Amino acid sequence: MEKLKFERPVINRINAGVPDKFGMSTAIQPISHIDDVAVEDLLSEYGSPLYVISEKSIRNTFREALSAFKTRYPKVQFAWSYKTNYLNAVCNIYHQEGSWAEVVSGFEFEKALANGVPGSKIIFNGPDKSKEDLERAIEHGSLIHIDHFDELYEIMSLAPKTGKKAKVAIRVNMDTGIYPHWDRFGFNYENGEAWTAINKIMPDPNMELIGLHTHIGTYIMTPNAYAIATSKLAALTVRIQLKYNHHLKYLDLGGGFASKNTLKGAYLPGSDTCPTFDDYAEAITGALSNSDIQYDHMPTLFLETGRALIDDAGYLLGSVLANKRLLDGRRSLIIDIGVNNLFTSFWYEHHIVPSKIKQRDTEDTTIYGPLCMNIDIIRAAIQFPVLEKGDHVVIKRIGAYNMTQWMQFITYRPKVVLIDLEGKAHVIRENENHESMNALDKMPNHLKEIQL
Ligand SMILES: *Cc1c(COP(=O)(O)O)cnc(C)c1O
Repeated sequence: MEKLKFERPVINRINAGVPDKFGMSTAIQPISHIDDVAVEDLLSEYGSPLYVISEKSIRNTFREALSAFKTRYPKVQFAWSYKTNYLNAVCNIYHQEGSWAEVVSGFEFEKALANGVPGSKIIFNGPDKSKEDLERAIEHGSLIHIDHFDELYEIMSLAPKTGKKAKVAIRVNMDTGIYPHWDRFGFNYENGEAWTAINKIMPDPNMELIGLHTHIGTYIMTPNAYAIATSKLAALTVRIQLKYNHHLKYLDLGGGFASKNTLKGAYLPGSDTCPTFDDYAEAITGALSNSDIQYDHMPTLFLETGRALIDDAGYLLGSVLANKRLLDGRRSLIIDIGVNNLFTSFWYEHHIVPSKIKQRDTEDTTIYGPLCMNIDIIRAAIQFPVLEKGDHVVIKRIGAYNMTQWMQFITYRPKVVLIDLEGKAHVIRENENHESMNALDKMPNHLKEIQL
């Protein structure tokens, strides 16, 4: 008979039968499979930790979002926000679904072109566009969303040299009742700055104003903020029609829809509080339909949704390295997933579960990453079952921002695997190794020799 392992006794308050303010406590549900592929198999084949992306989830969520808008307003065009997740395979799933590209740097612009997106279907946002970036965007007929007056003047001076008319929109920031107000991007609506920018662009023969853009913030829980933003962009559109008899081709409401992740300090879980795509679509398309824009000239509605489209499709799998007791008696668990691979742990209480449950008892646990750095904390306090070295954990909803904001720090970044619609796994990004990590380092001659 196998010798039983000693388990330190713990005293837990019994809550049986007494619901707390969230209702009855729910048992932890392990995640053993992702799209019918076993977590254990993925980890043994591709190593730990491992990013896993579900193609099925990406396509389903995208179609759900598109249909929420299209059924209310037929002229809708999504553009994939590259910075949310710019793995090329991921971008191309969105492009196959019909999304254009929304980029915020020359690097992302090059990525979109290399992925096969025609320049005329690239939206170029952001405060940092170099002279070369702008020239290239004008040449390609891309949609340049101007962020500030210095950029506006630069385009004015560049466009005549390219011999092409620059297709531009301006980014507008406005009070939508969401604070802090993101006033650092674009031109302000309320103080007249946006109108001033429009009046500089309209008479310029080398620029064509084709749209208006806003991106009011991120993880916006209030659909009505989008109704306010849409009304303000619509009011500018009408003013342009009246003064210039010019009709804008599109209004771009940006991104910012909340995902189902739970923000730190939130009272209720994000999966309960996050508005649906229908809620956002109703707010935006309702405000558009109710606006005074001439019916024959209704603009196309552009959306640049990022996190709400991809968060659910991403998983991070890892392994337990050790159990430890902290000085106050609390259990702590060290896993091989650090904040370098899970940047969003700085603002989300990530949903983390074991791949299988060996015992139902849970204990208040702190989950640490493997880094030699005190702030490497995945969950500060979570009711978690006791796991042993080598057991596996799964972190859900990590598809947005982690595979772009990841930090190369202390360890190599792991592989990313995509599970296709048939349940077949494909490596879509290799892990780093000694060679790839040192490829950019240069050693001056006088430092080549060392003697110890
Ligand atoms: C980041 C970004 C997005 C996507 O934002 P989400 O909050 O992830 O939806 C869209 N548009 C612009 C301009 C952005 O900077």
